[in-house]
Amino acid sequence: MISGPYDLSLVEGSITTPADAQRIHEVRQASRFLVTIGACATAGGIQALRNFGNVEEFSRLVYARPDYIATLSTSTAIADHVHVDFELQGCPIDSRQLLDVVAAFLHGRRPNIRGHSVCIECKRAGVTCVMVAHGTPCLGPVTHAGCGALCPSYARGCYGCFGPMEAPNTAALAAWWQRLGVDHPDLVRVFRTFNANAAPFRKEAEAHDAR
Ligand code: SF4
Ligand code: SF4
Repeated sequence: MISGPYDLSLVEGSITTPADAQRIHEVRQASRFLVTIGACATAGGIQALRNFGNVEEFSRLVYARPDYIATLSTSTAIADHVHVDFELQGCPIDSRQLLDVVAAFLHGRRPNIRGHSVCIECKRAGVTCVMVAHGTPCLGPVTHAGCGALCPSYARGCYGCFGPMEAPNTAALAAWWQRLGVDHPDLVRVFRTFNANAAPFRKEAEAHDAR
């Protein structure tokens, strides 16, 4: 039972059980504003890998008594179930971005979270591009900013933990990765991680899964 009312509710986690699917409507009703935070709440999380498999088969393999397991066949974002006022991406989220979002809702302004890519953060930080300089595959061109280009600053490629940026061109990046020697099965794996069910990443993985 959810009490309230609340000015602002922060929701983590995805909808994976019938109880989740019911409870989120109670949270929504008790909240003036509802903000989802993290890859699970905004995209279904790593557990959304079940969406591309057979959940009953998984349950039989893992549990001695799968009949005790109450689960949905999919893991989905909160916004697939109720109206969400703002989604803060990241796995994990960035604490500075969270502070800005909370302050924004308390002060009645828009959050100052831009939808651009990690590449912009690289340029601002003066980080050498690992893909151009070393041929290291990097998801930065299609990944939402927020981490401050953490991985490229340690000479590593981004693996997309902040999920898709606004309007990402995943097909162009996948073609570039193929020129770097990455094949279709690996492209499926690359786009199916923490944000596997985020629409742009899901569609790009499906495009390579079919080949
Ligand atoms: S290292 Fe990655 S995120 Fe940084 S500029 Fe190059 S492609 Fe973009
Ligand atoms: S560079 Fe990419 S994988 Fe690394 S922390 Fe940032 S968004 Fe996540």
